[in-house]
Amino acid sequence: MTNITKKLVKLFSNLCCSQCKCGFDEDAIEIKRREGGLLVAHLTCPHCEKSFGVAFVGMTNISLKDDNIEPAEVQDGPEPISYDDVIDAHRFIRNLDEHWQNHLPK
Ligand SMILES: [Zn+2]
Repeated sequence: MTNITKKLVKLFSNLCCSQCKCGFDEDAIEIKRREGGLLVAHLTCPHCEKSFGVAFVGMTNISLKDDNIEPAEVQDGPEPISYDDVIDAHRFIRNLDEHWQNHLPK
């Protein structure tokens, strides 16, 4: 498991699947894109395989060398993903093209 994955697992560890109540582990997280301080991760329940769509995580303040995981450093930490959020995220992803990096915070 990479440091990034460890941090994500920690980040999502207080959440559980709304369908089967299974917790999320590294198998639940698939990193789609990673660029600069932004991480796009797809979250799927490892037990019932319910998809929770994608989560955008700002990793700017997290030192990759620091094993002390501080979820408070993550900007806009994950909240329960609503139906609308998932739709928005899918729309956003679908509209990404070769200029997708323009969406990243400077
Ligand atoms: Zn589940």
